[in-house]
Amino acid sequence: LNYQTARFLTSAPTLAQCPLDAGAEVAFAGRSNAGKSSAINAMTQQKALARTSKTPGRTQLINFFSLAGGESQRLVDLPGYGYAKVPEKVKLEWQRHLADYLRNRQSLRGLVLVMDVRHPLSEFDEMMLGWADEQDMAVHILLTKADKLKSGAAKNELQKVRGRLREWEDLVSVQLFSSLKREGVAEAQARLDEWLLG
Ligand code: GDP
Repeated sequence: LNYQTARFLTSAPTLAQCPLDAGAEVAFAGRSNAGKSSAINAMTQQKALARTSKTPGRTQLINFFSLAGGESQRLVDLPGYGYAKVPEKVKLEWQRHLADYLRNRQSLRGLVLVMDVRHPLSEFDEMMLGWADEQDMAVHILLTKADKLKSGAAKNELQKVRGRLREWEDLVSVQLFSSLKREGVAEAQARLDEWLLG
């Protein structure tokens, strides 16, 4: 698939307001500041398709991008999670919408979970993995900001994360990624191709 053709389609605050649940989509999730927006921009080779979010606490929307001019293949940017300043009540609300989307969205083929390679498998990541596991949903983990570590240390982290997820290796794949250096883009696109074309 040509990911450069990604265009903004629509935003939805809840599952009920999402576009028609047909075709195939892949959703990106991550702790806020993990590098999710940058990863989407790197994968679509666009500067500002996904906004790198500088305003914690504003309304969290599910953003949909369509590929290749149609609406049948989509990328989905799920709300970033974990801003310290957001009240507990609002956090629980986001969790509810996220869980609702993951559990009930028929066209969802796989989840890309973006983690900072220096802080992988946060509490949020574990929660997302738990929900994915419940649904037998495939997950691809991008250990991003890999450029922040020396190559040996980054590979070490990759092996550690793989080791911790060994029991899920049928459903979960992991790779190193750098939006800054555009490393790992082709590998990630190949995984998305499997999901969106398969
Ligand atoms: P989001 O909140 O998960 O969408 O995270 P952003 O994409 O907005 O990135 C958060 C911060 O990390 C920004 O300052 C980015 O410039 C930086 N960042 C994101 N990806 C990378 C990367 O691959 N390498 C480096 N060095 N910095 C990155």
